[in-house]
Order: sequence, then C-alpha cells, then structure tokens
Amino acid sequence: MGAEADLREEIVELGQMLARLGLSHGSTGNISVQLDDGWLLTPTNSRLGKLDPARIAKLDDKGCHLSGDKPSKEAFLHRCVYEMRPHDRAVVHLHSTHSVAVSCLDGLDDKNCMPPLTAYYVMRVGKLPLVPYFPPGDERLATAVRRLAAHHASVLLANHGPVVAGKSLDSAAGSIEELEATAKLFLMLQDKPIRPLTPDDVDELDARFPKS
Ligand code: ZN
Repeated sequence: MGAEADLREEIVELGQMLARLGLSHGSTGNISVQLDDGWLLTPTNSRLGKLDPARIAKLDDKGCHLSGDKPSKEAFLHRCVYEMRPHDRAVVHLHSTHSVAVSCLDGLDDKNCMPPLTAYYVMRVGKLPLVPYFPPGDERLATAVRRLAAHHASVLLANHGPVVAGKSLDSAAGSIEELEATAKLFLMLQDKPIRPLTPDDVDELDARFPKS
C-alpha cells in the first residue's frame, strides 16, 4: 500500500504542476499510473490542480472501476496505450493549447506532425504520429491509438491533444512538457523558413540516446 499511497501523492503533485504551467484548463487532461494490482486514473470532471489523493479512481486491468471517484471518460485512451506498451508505467493526456493548435493544422505529415527542431525534442519525443479525428468514445479512435501506440510513446490526437506514455510519471510528464514547448516553437516559426535538424543529426541522436 505504501507504493500506491506514494503514487497517489505523485499524481496530485504532477496535476498541480501541470495546472500551474497552464497546461490543463478547466477539467481537461488526465493522468494515470500502473500499480501491481491495477492502475490509478484521475477522476472525471476533476481539475488537475485540485486533486484529492484519496479520491483518485482505481481500476483493474480490464478497466473496471474498483474504488475512488468515477474515472475520466478518457480512460480508454490510457488502456489502449498500456495494452500496446506493457513496459510503460504512466500516461499523461492533455488539451494543452499549443499542442492542440498543431493538431488542428491542415496538411500535417500524419507520420510525424512536427520537424525535429531541437535535440531535446528528438530525445524526449522523436516522431509524433497523428491519430485521425474520431468522436470521443468511438471505437475507431481506440483502434487508431492502439495501432500507433505500439511503436510510439507519444501520439497527437487530431483536433484534440497529445497522449504520452513513459516509464514513470516524471518521464511521461517531462516528455509532454517538451512536446508542448516544441509545439509553441513550431507555431512561432510557421511563417518563417525553418532549418530543422538533418536526418543524419536525428540518426546520431537516436544512436547516442536510444529510446526504449
Ligand atoms: Zn482529451
């Protein structure tokens, strides 16, 4: 129980940080983490900046609600990612403004939505595929997330926002913050000629800092 209590506190602290950074407006965004006997997920309609550790939802491996408040309606996104990425332990999903803005742009490369602008973006996120738009809860959305999550820790839902997995809450949070900051840069550079890292630069980073 000690580990679960610590993880509940970690979720609360991460929620406060994401809210402080302006990455979670209203009751948007959700955070989950794996336990030995299921997983924890932030409740539906909860503000990430004001979570109560005791009320965070606990679910079993099939996604059934075990305890705490009713889980986020976006629980299926987290389940799809864990199904395909059993070695990842945490998932963060946000409606953060700059990433959502990128997800609404026309003409994105659906295999990789943003160019490799910086080394840290390449190391933390790498390729960012676009999940086509489907209404929330549509089974086609779940299928598309599963297909892309099998090969990517970070995906961008069209007209919606990013979903990022990691080995820990801290790792998933660091990656989604890097993604959001890069989305902001990408938007700032929209009307300017861009000189991104070259394919050789990216290959060298991948060789030096392999993603597990
Ligand atoms: Zn969402």
